[in-house]
Amino acid sequence: MKLPLEHPIFEILAAIAADQNTEAYVIGGYVRDLLLGRSSKDIDIVVHGSGIGLAEETARQLGNLHVSVFKNFGTAMFRYKGMEIEFVGARKESYRANSRKPIVEEGTIDDDQKRRDFTINALAISLNRHDYGTLIDPFGGLVHLEQRIIKTPLEPGITFSDDPLRMMRAIRFASQLNFTIEENTLKGIREQRHRISIVSGERIMDEFNKIMLSPEPSRGIRLLDETGLLELFFPELTDLKGVENINGIKHKDNFYHTLTVLDTLSLYSQELWLRWAALLHDIGKPATKKYIKGQGWTFYGHNHVGERMVAKIFNRLRLPQNEKMKYVQKLVNLHMRPIVLAEETVTDSAVRRLLFDAGNDIDDLMTLAEADITSKNEEKVKRFLENFRIVRQKLREVEEKDSIRNFQPPISGEEIIATFSLPPCKAIGDIKNAIKEAILDGIIGNNYEEARTYMFKVAEEMGIPPSE
Ligand code: ATP
Repeated sequence: MKLPLEHPIFEILAAIAADQNTEAYVIGGYVRDLLLGRSSKDIDIVVHGSGIGLAEETARQLGNLHVSVFKNFGTAMFRYKGMEIEFVGARKESYRANSRKPIVEEGTIDDDQKRRDFTINALAISLNRHDYGTLIDPFGGLVHLEQRIIKTPLEPGITFSDDPLRMMRAIRFASQLNFTIEENTLKGIREQRHRISIVSGERIMDEFNKIMLSPEPSRGIRLLDETGLLELFFPELTDLKGVENINGIKHKDNFYHTLTVLDTLSLYSQELWLRWAALLHDIGKPATKKYIKGQGWTFYGHNHVGERMVAKIFNRLRLPQNEKMKYVQKLVNLHMRPIVLAEETVTDSAVRRLLFDAGNDIDDLMTLAEADITSKNEEKVKRFLENFRIVRQKLREVEEKDSIRNFQPPISGEEIIATFSLPPCKAIGDIKNAIKEAILDGIIGNNYEEARTYMFKVAEEMGIPPSE
């Protein structure tokens, strides 16, 4: 079977490889995505002999493009017409039973295809004059693409034991492409799952985040759960599982609820960290669960406990410890607020307070809260959604009137000190706070004049006279 190769680099590579009397092939993700009709950002080239040599000569002929060379790995890369083109010499890998490090030797395209993780990633296309454009498919990858299955080229147990990251990759591809993992391959993952312990947190999370960004992330997370991998690196999530029943009163299964929320939110947002907030919004529930007679199941403070757990989880999983984490913490902490608000009569001051606490993340918070409504009671859902509509409208009105989103105190501490000739003391903070509260309660507008008048009033009540 011949395939059309559209990018101009392929013809150029074919000519230079012929000049160098070597063989070159496109391999891996680019070929897979070409057959699936997906776009790619990189092209992997395997060369008989030196990948670096072909890369350097090609870059030279293209006008001295900059080549990044990784001598230790025998690889090289340059960018050309919107693509990252990566070169590697064909390799043969063999593993010894007592070591994770493979013996790597020079090999042929056959050898190189054998060391690939899945049949659909082992597909190659020839760039050689005599069979240019021909698909080389030793393991049935083309059929597996049609059948939409993930399968290892060799015995799964060996493939996964040699490099346990491949277990995460199998599940990531299944989730990303909406493929099924072939039965024997799935069994291999189950059997080798404990080997995941030798993979670094960063690499596990690279794959996990690709699962999080797939169209229906629950597909991948369920597979991680079913294979037993999830509880090994993310026990807080599997702890959400289960339903308890006391006197016929049950609570919902928070694991499956979380997956539903995550999938629903993913219909509306591609933002990784908002999806993380959905994943972790109820993470504090197991630790706070309590059955109270007359009330049923309660999870008091689960948002605060959840917020603290986010920091621990991010730290352990080597996720960023920066404003991304703080954003997730904030949303986990606030996730029930819009729902509580929508349950009651929606007052301006409650909306103003929500806007103040959420700031610029208010829209994301509303998206999360709306996805969190998973009740099977249609009447209830309808009522919530209608109230949400009112909350959103009020948010707009209040924001237009009072600009609370990026609240800046209209009166500074310095102005309070100067007006009342105060030494550093608690009263300054108290006056500032009273002004803020009055704005949030709608007693005064969010502007300098009203705030200044109010400042004098509060100070007088506190027995603080203005200076002469
Ligand atoms: P994506 O670009 O979506 O991440 P990809 O398949 O291109 O998908 P890369 O990580 O760039 O992913 O890998 C390129 C190719 O290298 C793969 O298609 C596969 O052939 C091979 N490969 C990558 N990682 C492994 C691995 N752990 N074991 C075996 N082969 C691998």
